[in-house]
Amino acid sequence: MDTSPVSTLSELRTDSDRLWQSLMTLAELGATPKGGVNRQALTELDRQARDLFIQWCKAEGCTIRIDAIGNIFARRAGTDPDAPAVMTGSHIDTQPTGGKFDGCFGVMAGLEVLRSLNQHDIKTRCPVEVVVWTNEEGCRFAPCMMGSGVHTGQLSLHEMLAQKDTDGVTAGEALDAIGYRGSDEIPRENVRAFFESHIEQGPILEDEETTIGVVMGALGQRWFDLSLTGQEAHAGPTPMSLRQDAMLGAAEITVAVNRIAIEHAPHGRGTVGVMQVHPGSRNVIPGQVYMTIDLRSLEPDSLTAMVAELKEVVEAVSQRHRLAFELTPTADFVPEHFADNCVNAVRNAASQLGYSHLDIVSGAGHDAIFMGRIAPAGMIFVPCEGGISHNEIENAAPKDLHAGCNVLFHAMLDQAEIVS
Ligand SMILES: [Zn+2]
Repeated sequence: MDTSPVSTLSELRTDSDRLWQSLMTLAELGATPKGGVNRQALTELDRQARDLFIQWCKAEGCTIRIDAIGNIFARRAGTDPDAPAVMTGSHIDTQPTGGKFDGCFGVMAGLEVLRSLNQHDIKTRCPVEVVVWTNEEGCRFAPCMMGSGVHTGQLSLHEMLAQKDTDGVTAGEALDAIGYRGSDEIPRENVRAFFESHIEQGPILEDEETTIGVVMGALGQRWFDLSLTGQEAHAGPTPMSLRQDAMLGAAEITVAVNRIAIEHAPHGRGTVGVMQVHPGSRNVIPGQVYMTIDLRSLEPDSLTAMVAELKEVVEAVSQRHRLAFELTPTADFVPEHFADNCVNAVRNAASQLGYSHLDIVSGAGHDAIFMGRIAPAGMIFVPCEGGISHNEIENAAPKDLHAGCNVLFHAMLDQAEIVS
């Protein structure tokens, strides 16, 4: 009989209907009339979603651990107690007007991997673990990626527990209120691979008619606040040559931010997202502008060069229009290059399963980026309709989600070492 273990293994697939059903059941908790989900971090609805996840994982025989910031770790034992873990996970909190798939897909895909391992009675040398990270979205409690940030030592537990929502409730109090302030110590080392499957939240895969994004890394980010100060004056009597127009300076800088990003293609990004003009009167030359600048790139050198070019532009424009300026850095995230073993496992799985795929970078923040600082990490992207996310109309095709889950399954099998 031609049933060598390898060919049998390569034919294994996760269950598309079961994955879809678990996503839809989870989406009922906090469902909005427009078809989205409002299930913000550490609320009663978040508790219900966490309880459901734990109930599902216990049914698969997993051991549950909860750490001090409320991250949940569901572990399926391997045959070797000393073997490093092969992990996956994401988040189940949402934006106030969030969708059904952002984060939830990564967690439900992990659950589906656990179910498929059990269904096919597969033993692995390494333990397989699915994580729910606390407060990835950062909308109720800042900052975003709180749980993975604490776990990986990038954020302080003490400071995070003291973060307050708009009602003055701290994250620590909210954790207590829903019964998810755990005490399990989770060792950070001894992880062979961490995978996160996620909807792309951008338009590239759909535009390229491609099923799987093999995520190479994540763009680094440098954020700035910029204040420009000129002089308010009457729009009529003041000749053009004698103006100190802060708005004109802001406009030139905005155009330059766009140019700088384009010159650092393909991964350069430059955005001015906020502009406040003072005094905001139609017949007064603006004396003051406050604006924000967001620069991103994949290569550290390119990001550094972009920042240097921005500073030059701000100085030159301010001088030309006789403006005072204050350029203040507000965020600095280094670019992340994902580990070869994870990237290759994802790409090989996509190839072997016959899915179209392309190398892609993440422009947004994800828990996997923090995990990548302490362990080999990688991500799998699947298309979402119109590239739209953080919106109640967020949508993804069951067949694409199934493909992403299959790639996750085989990438994890590759790293976890099957014991026959
Ligand atoms: Zn997400």
